[in-house]
Amino acid sequence: MPFSKLGLSTPILQALNECGYQQPTPIQKKAIPVVLSGKNLIAAAQTGTGKTASFVLPILQKLTEQQEALRGKRVRVLILTPTRELAIQVEENIVDYAKHLEISSLAMYGGVDSEPQKQALIYGIDILVATPGRLLDMMYQRAVHFDQLDTLVLDEADRMLDMGFIDDITKIVDRLPEQRQSLLFSATLSPQIRQLAKSTIEQATEISVASNSDNTPKIDQWLVTVDKDKKSALLSQMILANQWQQALIFIQTKHGSAKLVSQLEKRGIKAEAFHSGRSQASRSKLLADFKSGEVQFVVATGIAARGIDIDDLDRVVNYDLPDQSDDYIHRIGRTGRAGAIGEAISFVSRDDFRNLCAIESRLGQLIERKEVEGFAPIKEVPVSILNFRPKSNKGSGHYKPRKKPSK
Ligand code: AMP
Repeated sequence: MPFSKLGLSTPILQALNECGYQQPTPIQKKAIPVVLSGKNLIAAAQTGTGKTASFVLPILQKLTEQQEALRGKRVRVLILTPTRELAIQVEENIVDYAKHLEISSLAMYGGVDSEPQKQALIYGIDILVATPGRLLDMMYQRAVHFDQLDTLVLDEADRMLDMGFIDDITKIVDRLPEQRQSLLFSATLSPQIRQLAKSTIEQATEISVASNSDNTPKIDQWLVTVDKDKKSALLSQMILANQWQQALIFIQTKHGSAKLVSQLEKRGIKAEAFHSGRSQASRSKLLADFKSGEVQFVVATGIAARGIDIDDLDRVVNYDLPDQSDDYIHRIGRTGRAGAIGEAISFVSRDDFRNLCAIESRLGQLIERKEVEGFAPIKEVPVSILNFRPKSNKGSGHYKPRKKPSK
């Protein structure tokens, strides 16, 4: 099905053509008609499936049909995102898709001077993409009002909850007009997300894109078991032996990222650390340099890396496994985007075993193990509980295999 069948106008179709999009992704096919119809929506879609365009495109279409003049400090559409990186990235997408339209947009986030953002709001903004904390600040300063708002989007809602934004979101939503269209996007529809949806979104249509669909990103996932103190040598060897051009490397701590960068440097590999301790300006520059290929290797802590969107990213490396299995899904979603094949490699030491079990149970499958010569661990990593098969009922009473999670 081409984009032209979805009810989008020529200037939008032209922009999509210029972006090189040939046809809608599954989430776009499902969500665009729902949003255009004015219904509320709850969508389960991971990053990398084209979810941003699935709400931005119909929102742009509806804005082109809007007649009412926008007053100062007003916004028509509010998109809440968990991180500033994601806010910037979503707003960049809006600019791309709206390049042939007269529609204004603004990314608003903390960690930078609020004055320019306030100025930008003075004459009103059609689409405001904001992180919850900075938006609340602006609301309290009466720099933004919502009496002309007609659409709310909660993007990566699961991540917003993980990051503790629930109170902020509630305070914001309480100030929005009751008559509005609300859209919620989340990688997973956990009980917490359903609770949030219940309090913010009435009578929503629910859609999801099956994770085994042909059109979801193809990600080649595998892991190497390795002793913790050998991980940096293993990474260097893999980069050099396989002549990797780029990789986004996830690590647990800020301190760990700085240490790994210097260990790689000693082996002649130039990498940069990406974490919340760096200024917004240097994070944005680093991201731009990574996108352009000038920086080849980025070592990022999980939270900081949440909003990174890079096309054609070949590979992510989980130098440490995340504590939350959903984070694993988000991380690997950075690769294999919209049809391309990506590679997600995890370095698993004995300490990571619990997290490995949780991730493999969440995936409902074991991740393929590969060996790298010279790095066989002294502390072996057992096969996950997921694979546990008692030989007979006799003698297995002490052990209860873990139930496959229902989510
Ligand atoms: P998202 O899931 O919104 O982060 O999008 C993932 C990537 O897919 C982004 O880089 C988009 O530019 C790209 N993308 C979105 N929709 C399409 C499409 N219909 N065809 C090709 N690429 C797309």
